[in-house]
Amino acid sequence: MSVPFIDFTKQNEAIKNEVDAGWKAVIEKSAFIMGPQVKAFEEEFARYCGVKYAIGVNSGTDALYLALSALDIKPGDEVILPTYTFIATALCVSYTGAKVVFADIEEKTYNICPESLKKVITKKTKAIIPVHLYGQMADMDELNEISEKQGIAIIEDSCQAHGTRYKGARSGSLGKAGCFSFYPTKGLGAWGDGGMVVTNDDHVNYMVNMLRDYGRTDRYSHKMKGHNSRLDTMQAVVLSAKLKHLDQWNTMRQKVAAVYAQELKDVDVVTPLHAPDREHVYQTYAIRVKNRDKVMDGLKARGVASLIHYPIPVHLQEAYADAGNKKGDFPLGEKVCNEILSLPMFPHMTTDQVKEVAKALKEAI
Ligand SMILES: *Cc1c(COP(=O)(O)O)cnc(C)c1O
Repeated sequence: MSVPFIDFTKQNEAIKNEVDAGWKAVIEKSAFIMGPQVKAFEEEFARYCGVKYAIGVNSGTDALYLALSALDIKPGDEVILPTYTFIATALCVSYTGAKVVFADIEEKTYNICPESLKKVITKKTKAIIPVHLYGQMADMDELNEISEKQGIAIIEDSCQAHGTRYKGARSGSLGKAGCFSFYPTKGLGAWGDGGMVVTNDDHVNYMVNMLRDYGRTDRYSHKMKGHNSRLDTMQAVVLSAKLKHLDQWNTMRQKVAAVYAQELKDVDVVTPLHAPDREHVYQTYAIRVKNRDKVMDGLKARGVASLIHYPIPVHLQEAYADAGNKKGDFPLGEKVCNEILSLPMFPHMTTDQVKEVAKALKEAI
């Protein structure tokens, strides 16, 4: 039996009728840009996250970029982020002209390490972007303490953390702003690109609303040089239908993870740590294993798909050579890059499929 990395067939079936009807309504009104379905989904998502505002944008990358822009982050400023993340977390900072400053991660949760972060704070630090990697939030109490003491904004990169909670609060609701991606493979995924900024802050809400829509205050009045970065009405329909299932799908992911933990308990791999006081929704099920590349080949030979999130830390990417870092600067991030391996994970994955992956993994090792 071969096992795909992701199979969303069942998810798509669950929402198909609602999307058919919703899309028909959009087409009948030709309300493709900023139709009423966008506003409706924004309200639903804000309520879901437990925040005052949600502003739909065209990607997770733009959600981060517009949130930083709303805080007037610009050349001369510094923004700190973990080196172990998807490169978009850094790109959004570079778009503003501010300097990207890296910090290392915690070896157990793979999230930003508060101690490493404290070492790189300067007078120019304007924001910190914790990335809630794989579906589990960073240590928000520690980060918010740093934020309050030093007056540095926290922008949550929640692109892998839809619906997950820290001490009961949803991801995205504990910083100055939370930024989500609706890229198709994310926990809440569109049938195309999409993103969202959530916030309790009136000013951030005001700014992001303007920035995503050419900087306009009304049809032909433009207060600032904004962008074209709106959430598609067609995608809002898909996302609205999926949001109703999100908690259930996250619970299903947790059940898949529990079967993995059971099946892998005597295997020489590091399974994901579920930290205290928070939830893990396993947007990605990443293990660590010796001889990772060979093990990956072994899985492939047995029909089991796997991926590496992420093989190269951002500070060692060619694109960030100008940040002036070198190999050895962030030893934990670098170490994890060499050992990490993402196994198949999706809500409707069956116990038989998980067992098949575990069996192939044992053989490959
Ligand atoms: C996916 C992702 C992004 C970017 O989102 P897009 O919608 O693809 O632009 C940013 N940060 C992290 C951590 C991500 O996983």
